[in-house]
Amino acid sequence: MQTHEIRQRFLDHFERAGHTVVPSASLISEDPTLLFTVAGMVPFKPYFLGQSTPPFPRATSVQKCVRTLDIDNVGITTRHNTFFQMAGNFSFGDYFKAGAIQHAWTLLTGSLADGGYGLDPDRLWVTVFEKDDESVQLWQEIAGLPAERIQKMGMADNFWSMGVPGPCGPCSEIYYDRGPSFGPDGGPLASDERYLEVWNLVFMQDMRGESSGLGGSHAADFDILGPLPSQNIDTGLGVERMALVLQDVDNVYETDLLRPIISRMEELSGRTYGQDPQADIRMRVIADHSRSATLLIGDGVTPGNEGRGYVLRRLVRRTVRAARLIGVTEPVIGTLFGVVRDLMSPSYPELATDFARIEKIGVTEEKAFLRTIASGTKLFAVAEQETKAEGATVLPGATAFTLHDTQGFPIDLTLEMAAEAGLTVDVAGFTRLMEEQKTRARADAKARKGSLADLSVYRGLLADGPTRFTGYSELVSEGIV
Ligand code: ATP
Ligand code: MG
Ligand code: MG
Ligand code: MG
Repeated sequence: MQTHEIRQRFLDHFERAGHTVVPSASLISEDPTLLFTVAGMVPFKPYFLGQSTPPFPRATSVQKCVRTLDIDNVGITTRHNTFFQMAGNFSFGDYFKAGAIQHAWTLLTGSLADGGYGLDPDRLWVTVFEKDDESVQLWQEIAGLPAERIQKMGMADNFWSMGVPGPCGPCSEIYYDRGPSFGPDGGPLASDERYLEVWNLVFMQDMRGESSGLGGSHAADFDILGPLPSQNIDTGLGVERMALVLQDVDNVYETDLLRPIISRMEELSGRTYGQDPQADIRMRVIADHSRSATLLIGDGVTPGNEGRGYVLRRLVRRTVRAARLIGVTEPVIGTLFGVVRDLMSPSYPELATDFARIEKIGVTEEKAFLRTIASGTKLFAVAEQETKAEGATVLPGATAFTLHDTQGFPIDLTLEMAAEAGLTVDVAGFTRLMEEQKTRARADAKARKGSLADLSVYRGLLADGPTRFTGYSELVSEGIV
């Protein structure tokens, strides 16, 4: 089943059940506390907070989402994208737990002929909040799930809250068992790769109060003030993950809306996906980031040195970098954005109508980065010569640092070029200099109180590689703090 149909079946299912179909809101949330729309409920937040009255008791949507915090997982896990589509159904003081469970179960296990996804019920597992016995019972009664496929999880995983004071409540998540080749049995508690989380049902039922002051930053460290005036439902199903399941592929990047981007990279690089794990990760990163960048520009983000613009800049740069690392040194953004447009414009027509603008912004950003790489390469060549002239084989940490600091040269690139030149790099020295810069910047920022508000958002994004974190000093070198 193609992703387009997965979306449509979701909306149709809930429309039949009396939900108003609401179009996706922009990735640029109106909510000033958010950099991007991170979940389907974001546009409905004012209703859940009681700030305005919903014009309908039930709604359904497929919302464009960007989660920068997942960036380190991109390409590594089989299930994380930075841009993804979250399908959801929402009840504003209308149906509650039983209704949400019923609706989800009939869609997942309903036959294809009846508009369902036709999943085998024996492959579905759920988690519930450890104190939510009511949900355990409902899953047994409504879905006929055996007790051993209902697992209890604590605050950190299965309890949702928003703001203080604000609504909160337990969640229940639905997982699909992909089979023994993906990990050990034993349910989601045993393996989050084998048991793929596809759907989160949030049961908003209480008002959260201030901390009781007992447990530091512990998630349980707040008081329940009492029940909300009305109980709400907020759910989110990952469309890409559902596509993985229904298309029976190993990875979200192998589904119909992402695999063609990888295919284009195969053509450009002359490599075959599935042969080298490192190159595969890079191809998935390219698929992910080029798609996110296209959609973000489509929604009005332009590259810059702070906030959303900085996120976009990093996405474009990481795409270009990853392409280089699989051997493609010519510009790729125009081509990749074109593939994304062809794949995504059936759902988001503005990507086609506005393509000239989107492409131009992406290509201009790529050109600037390629110039950075070119000038860094000159500096590198001089350092290489000097190192070799001294009969040394290790490029000094200070050189790597200068390349990073003045040319915006990611350490991965330095390492790669050094290896090509038959040199190693004093990474410890580099890291030490980065640390020192970080400390200086911290002291600096402290002196300028308040300017650090949103840094956590960039943390993952700024890492040069899957595990490296150089974020803070990059913010500094990019002139953000
Ligand atoms: P995970 O534990 O896999 O990171 P999550 O618990 O953070 O997922 P939720 O916040 O519950 O995710 O979001 C609701 C649904 O949205 C998830 O059940 C999943 O299907 C989908 N989803 C969440 N994050 C991503 C992502 N980065 N890429 C693709 N789909 C996602
Ligand atoms: Mg997550
Ligand atoms: Mg989860
Ligand atoms: Mg979840």
